[in-house]
Amino acid sequence: MDELLAEMRRYAAANRVPIIGAAAAALLEQTVALKQPRSVLEIGTAIGYSTLLIAGKSPVSARIATIELDAGRAAAARQFILRSGLSDRISLLEGDAGRLIPALEGRYDLVFIDAAKGQYLDYLTKLLGKLQHQAVIFADNVLFRGLVASPEAPPRRYKTIVSRLRGYLQFVTADPRFATTVYPTGDGVAISHYQGAVDIATT
Ligand code: SAH
Ligand code: MG
Repeated sequence: MDELLAEMRRYAAANRVPIIGAAAAALLEQTVALKQPRSVLEIGTAIGYSTLLIAGKSPVSARIATIELDAGRAAAARQFILRSGLSDRISLLEGDAGRLIPALEGRYDLVFIDAAKGQYLDYLTKLLGKLQHQAVIFADNVLFRGLVASPEAPPRRYKTIVSRLRGYLQFVTADPRFATTVYPTGDGVAISHYQGAVDIATT
């Protein structure tokens, strides 16, 4: 498995695929190992690198669904996943996560959000009815090159992404159904624990 992961890192570098960096990867692996999820959803497979990191730290009985929009990346992911020997636990869904999430039937106890940076809040909103109590939501790149937490105006081309990532962080920190910590690891990671529906009258 280590050799396959190293090959995937080389493939990603050669083909400019933005796979998770070492620091955030270590945090993701720790989070999965602590949670021992039975049902995982990954949004943004790319070539399956983080998928295999998650699978490697999950219980053998875990089911992992992962969504990728780009056909070429999904095809590469299928090959790598096959070679990992873990393909019986992993279902790769090809298409736009914003469209596919509402049709998902499962309930998830761990979600890794790592697809279109402007759509994180849309993904989470569509997932609200599909989370187990105490589900963990691990969102990557939430500080986006340091621009999200900067008092300075972002470059024009990143304005929308930055304001939408701020909207995501605002939601998961303010909404009483989530308890969230933001880590400056890698490009920024938000880990949120879903507390289920909270009765406002008792809080
Ligand atoms: N999680 C991967 C990296 C994902 S990179 C890893 O760390 O190994 C982000 C991926 O999200 C890209 O491959 C991109 O094609 C995909 N993506 C972007 N928008 C998407 C969407 N709307 N639905 C599904 N996948 C999307
Ligand atoms: Mg990422």
